[in-house]
Amino acid sequence: MRCVRASSLVKSSPSSGWRTSQLGWAWAHARPYRGRIAILAGLSLSEIALRMAAPFAMMVVVDHALGGKAPSGRLARVFAGVGLPATGRTLLVTFVVAGLAMQLAHQLVVMLHNRRSVVIGQSMIRDLRERLFAHVQAATLRHHVATPTGDAVNRLEADTRCVEHIVLRGMFSLVFSVLTLIAMLSVLVAIEPRIAVLALAIVPPLFGWLRFHGRRVGPRADRARRADSHLSSRLFETLASIRLIKSHAREDHELQRFSRAADDSARAWIGIGRAGAVFGVVNGWLTAIGSSAILLVGGMSVLDRGMTLGTLLLALTYVGYVYGPLSAIANTSNELLNSFAGARRVRAAFEVAPECTERPGAIDGCRLRGDVEVSSVAFAYKPGVPVLEDVSFRARPGQLVAIVGPSGAGKSTLAGLVVRFHDVQAGAIRIDGRPIQDYRVRALRRQIALVLQDSVIMSGSVRDNLRYGRPDATDAEIEAAARAAHAHDFIMEMPDGYDTVLEEVGGTLSGGQRQRLSIARAFLKDAPILILDEPTAVLDTLAESQVVDAIEHLSEKRTTLVIAHRLSTVRRADHILVMDRGRIVGSGTHEQLHATNVMYRQLAAQLSVPEARTMAR
Ligand code: ADP
Repeated sequence: MRCVRASSLVKSSPSSGWRTSQLGWAWAHARPYRGRIAILAGLSLSEIALRMAAPFAMMVVVDHALGGKAPSGRLARVFAGVGLPATGRTLLVTFVVAGLAMQLAHQLVVMLHNRRSVVIGQSMIRDLRERLFAHVQAATLRHHVATPTGDAVNRLEADTRCVEHIVLRGMFSLVFSVLTLIAMLSVLVAIEPRIAVLALAIVPPLFGWLRFHGRRVGPRADRARRADSHLSSRLFETLASIRLIKSHAREDHELQRFSRAADDSARAWIGIGRAGAVFGVVNGWLTAIGSSAILLVGGMSVLDRGMTLGTLLLALTYVGYVYGPLSAIANTSNELLNSFAGARRVRAAFEVAPECTERPGAIDGCRLRGDVEVSSVAFAYKPGVPVLEDVSFRARPGQLVAIVGPSGAGKSTLAGLVVRFHDVQAGAIRIDGRPIQDYRVRALRRQIALVLQDSVIMSGSVRDNLRYGRPDATDAEIEAAARAAHAHDFIMEMPDGYDTVLEEVGGTLSGGQRQRLSIARAFLKDAPILILDEPTAVLDTLAESQVVDAIEHLSEKRTTLVIAHRLSTVRRADHILVMDRGRIVGSGTHEQLHATNVMYRQLAAQLSVPEARTMAR
């Protein structure tokens, strides 16, 4: 059966269906911020206007206040209008103050712009992270198993910053650099067209260089992101396997592997940094050549009395204002290459298909009786490598069905199909007569409690952990569940009882205690169907007896599928399935199978050995 792409997450993800440029993709994420970006644009325009006006004050100071040139008619009229004499000193004071006021206002606008920009940028990153997190959670278990945690974390943490870089530091900066360039250039043309033309002479080599650099750095940026992701993966894998590493004294080996990954990352970023440094210096040379040429030509003009000193200074200031955005465009384009690499990785994460999800009109909020029927089920993780073939059985409400078989027979996979961790590829699983796809996934999972061999303890208090599967459980219900799972006594011995924060004592919980917390969680869920990947398999004798007791109590009156590792559990079962290489090779009661099935007899002998040892102790 194919997965139905029904998740709203995928629909809302701009990556699906978007085959346009990275810019288009990033802009789609920025859409909810359009209003706030417009305000930012207003601030940027005021910034340009203030920057454009300020040099004129300097020109008046140089030419009219200091140079003795008579003020223009309009300027003289303005001074006459306010009753001030247009003398050198008055002009000097007035225009120095005016220039200062414009600079102060300019700085103020820059500050407001930066403040807004950081808020918008961080909000965009936050939203993208939230959407990606939801999407990642919705991905299939198979995808999670196959994806290194470090890679997923890297995409979520570092690569999501790309959206802010592309939209605010990229697109927004580019647009305003272009606007500034046009504004400053038009003023320069009005002041001195020859100088404007000369200033523009560096544009073709600058953009030629930009293209050349882009082609070199683009692939390097992709490599650097991959190297970072690999580095994070190494870190996560090492920390997750720290017991194994320590027990085999393989710290040096892991350090070497980590160092290699760190070297790769450092090398990739050094390559980018070096290319960036060369890029910057060539930019600087081009603008220095342009400015010097202008100073030369303008200086000759001043010497020939074709231009005043004030006009030359004004023109040079505007040349700086033209080169500023030109360099900014070049630098922004360079930085965008890096952000595009991040965007590609985020988009790829959005492309991952979600878990098989609901059929339209799937049933929600039901209470099942627990009649589980598996008919001719087949399943493969990889095409052509079947893991389950033609598996059929029925567990009626309240029955205990034990599944036994050698490792790799497909027992856990079969259990996973019942909770829809994966969807069957042939045949059907029905509960209470309906295919499980008829129920909403969440509704189905609320009706099934899972207790696995290695129980997971989440961060938070004991209470939070117990109510994880039923957030509305009362304190009294939590305590009753803990008592039923033989967990109450050891919980009360903890420093803060049910309010003890487990991260603080998590390492000190024994395997048996963790399992009993997990069983208490299942009691609290009070589901009609129970799936046990027999949780006593990894416990010692003392811990086991309490857990076994709790499990027996838990499985009363519930349909229970147990992947059995203990002969006593198998004997108790109403029905036993013997699995081998993805098929059911025997089924019946203990006595029936013992009499007829060779594999069962062998398995039963193996299962009874640890128990015999346990009893002997
Ligand atoms: P059992 O629980 O009986 O030990 P499993 O159901 O865990 O068996 O595994 C059955 C087969 O499926 C094994 O060959 C195993 O390697 C393979 N398998 C299990 N999980 C995955 C997975 N996520 N991706 C690919 N193959 C898997």
